[in-house]
Amino acid sequence: MLQKVFILGAGPAGMSAALWLRNLGFEPIVAESESESGGMQRLNFLKNNWILGSESTTGVDLASVHRAHLETLDIPVLTEASTKVDVSAQGVKIDVLRRGSIQRSFEALAIIIATGTRFRSHEYVSKIAGWGSLLSSTVFFGPFAFSKLALTGQSEVLILGGGDNAFENAKILRDLGCRVTIVCRSNPKAQRKLVESVRANHPGSGVELFCESAVVNVIRLEEKVEVRLRSGKEQIFRRVSRIHVLYGYEPNVSFLKNWSFTSSSPLALDSAGYVVVESGQRTSVNGVYAAGDVCNPNYPSVITALAQGAIAAKSIEMDSRC
Ligand SMILES: Cc1cc2nc3c(=O)[nH]c(=O)nc-3n(C[C@H](O)[C@H](O)[C@H](O)COP(=O)(O)OP(=O)(O)OC[C@H]3O[C@@H](n4cnc5c(N)ncnc54)[C@H](O)[C@@H]3O)c2cc1C
Repeated sequence: MLQKVFILGAGPAGMSAALWLRNLGFEPIVAESESESGGMQRLNFLKNNWILGSESTTGVDLASVHRAHLETLDIPVLTEASTKVDVSAQGVKIDVLRRGSIQRSFEALAIIIATGTRFRSHEYVSKIAGWGSLLSSTVFFGPFAFSKLALTGQSEVLILGGGDNAFENAKILRDLGCRVTIVCRSNPKAQRKLVESVRANHPGSGVELFCESAVVNVIRLEEKVEVRLRSGKEQIFRRVSRIHVLYGYEPNVSFLKNWSFTSSSPLALDSAGYVVVESGQRTSVNGVYAAGDVCNPNYPSVITALAQGAIAAKSIEMDSRC
């Protein structure tokens, strides 16, 4: 009988692990919390030109190519699923729940966590004075904050954040003719090329950058927002039509509250909540592996996720021989 391996998350890492496991002679079963597999790239309508040989493919196309490949292999992907897991020295027991009811229960040799990350949201800004009074039509979160802007006619944008997403957003908005103010708490952490391309055109470009700065308070006006910034000793006021919050990502690990570890300590996470992995994508708990962004804060990308999924699968095959 084929040995089951359970995979949590159907993004590039989880789907790659499933493919490799199937090729290595295992029975992979994937559970995905969303209604469709594909992970973050499912939402990326821009070209993903970071994968050798597929320069004109959008993230959306890539996700559907990945999905179609698993379909040809008849690998089950249980969608809209949540899980209850017990990890013991004998293996992993899993209940897959859908809308609160157990849909399937089984025992597996191993489990791979491939749940990725999510962008930081309200909790990171809710303490700014006046934030609670802002209209939802003026505040946007995450990398696609810019996507429907053209329909609104709004053109003065405050971006909070200093990573790649913040500077990519600034570039896109500038090219759409917006006036952009970027406020970073520290110095920019975005790729140098991106920062330089935004800075190079400053101040004529319509992008201004405040580093080591913070928003002190916001005041809701009729259609705009008055923002008071602190930058060094200076106080600066800007009137904007919308605010894009791009404070980066955090790992999806909240499912761990439904996990029990019968014969080991709980899974080791780092101080930011990422799953700690050692060589071969092995975690601190035997039988538990992790792959992709959930354990890879420094190099998140499709290509590393695909590779780590493959490595996790190969490690399971090697460990199963011991
Ligand atoms: C806007 C944007 C553009 C990007 N552009 C690029 C690019 O051009 N090139 C590039 O290489 N990378 C890009 N990335 C990054 C890339 O998408 C990620 O690095 C990659 O998707 C990581 O794959 P993953 O499988 O680890 O995680 P994800 O793609 O995040 O997939 C994780 C999956 O797990 C699911 N999940 C979460 N929690 C649970 C749970 N408890 N149970 C079950 N399932 C769960 C999620 O719904 C998701 O489907 C971009 C990211 C964004 C947001």
